[in-house]
Amino acid sequence: MKTFKHFDAESVDHVLAILARYHGKTALMAGGTDLIGVLKSEILPEYPKIIINLKTIAGMNTIKMVDKECRIGATARLADIAASGLIQKIFPALAAAAESVGSPELRNMGTLGGNLCQDTRCWYYRYPDKMGGRIPCYRKGKGPCHAVKGENRYHAIIGGKKCYAVCPSDMAIALAALDARVKIIGPGGSRLVPILDFYNVLCTILNPDEMVTEVRIPEPGKNTVQAFYKNRPREAVDFAVVSVAVRLERTGDVCKDACIILGAVAPVPYRAVAAEEAVRGRRLHEIHAADAAKAAVKDARPLSQNAYKIEIAKTLVKRALLSF
Ligand SMILES: Cc1cc2nc3c(=O)[nH]c(=O)nc-3n(C[C@H](O)[C@H](O)[C@H](O)COP(=O)(O)OP(=O)(O)OC[C@H]3O[C@@H](n4cnc5c(N)ncnc54)[C@H](O)[C@@H]3O)c2cc1C
Repeated sequence: MKTFKHFDAESVDHVLAILARYHGKTALMAGGTDLIGVLKSEILPEYPKIIINLKTIAGMNTIKMVDKECRIGATARLADIAASGLIQKIFPALAAAAESVGSPELRNMGTLGGNLCQDTRCWYYRYPDKMGGRIPCYRKGKGPCHAVKGENRYHAIIGGKKCYAVCPSDMAIALAALDARVKIIGPGGSRLVPILDFYNVLCTILNPDEMVTEVRIPEPGKNTVQAFYKNRPREAVDFAVVSVAVRLERTGDVCKDACIILGAVAPVPYRAVAAEEAVRGRRLHEIHAADAAKAAVKDARPLSQNAYKIEIAKTLVKRALLSF
């Protein structure tokens, strides 16, 4: 690796001061499970001169209920979220998503903020510089998306357009179904952004002088059910081929509201609005899971090698709806 200066952050204000002082030359680090790989492979031409360790900020790793809202600090570890009694009881879909990430080692080091902000896993984008030179592409600011005519079995089937890399974060999928918001702090103050608005097709909406400090999730109503399912090549240490998170709110046996999010099918978490419409207002025993599953992938336009993702997405949506 190239050398860099390392700061142990004492507070959020300390981070903001360093970001302002070394504008554009910094990188934030939490668990480092993604960032260190990005730096070692030198996938990007720019290399940070300063690394700011966020894990030394006291109290930014807590999980607590405040005013009917769960607040999870950005440096809360995925292992702690998966094991939290509060999360398991009130947000089982989030606990399942956290438990599904990578391996125990990754969950012990990886944090919520890092999981949401991790870089994509597209193999063209992440190609190491030392193995014959990094590959320029649309996502890096210059060149085509090589997945379009290349090896694209894990790429997007919906909404790819100029870049077909998928959002790799499992936590984002469960949090989107749970209507969570991300707290962002920068020099101008703080803002709360719905998680679906936190991403654009190439990255997050974070400015270089901002950081994530917290995620807030509203307490679901008593009659809410939720589920998270994920398909991956191996049961351990693998990213999702497709994932789904579903939240249904019921009045009696009628589905009053629904939120259905698909993961790893698009550059951002994909809200399957047509599938939601297929279940909303119906009696639970009248919900036709197969129709909702079909509606969930109505916008799919697969590439040469990834049409199989459509069937997996339909199966996961059906599985989630039939689990309630
Ligand atoms: C083998 C392997 C398998 C994996 N499998 C999965 C999987 O199945 N599902 C899945 O979702 N993920 C998976 N991952 C990714 C893993 O979850 C992430 O690497 C991890 O969550 C990142 O967290 P971190 O704290 O280590 O982040 P870091 O590596 O420290 O940071 C990642 C990025 O986020 C930025 N960042 C970190 N914290 C903040 C903050 N508070 N505000 C703003 N920016 C911030 C950093 O600057 C960096 O760009 C896998 C990774 C590996 C290596």
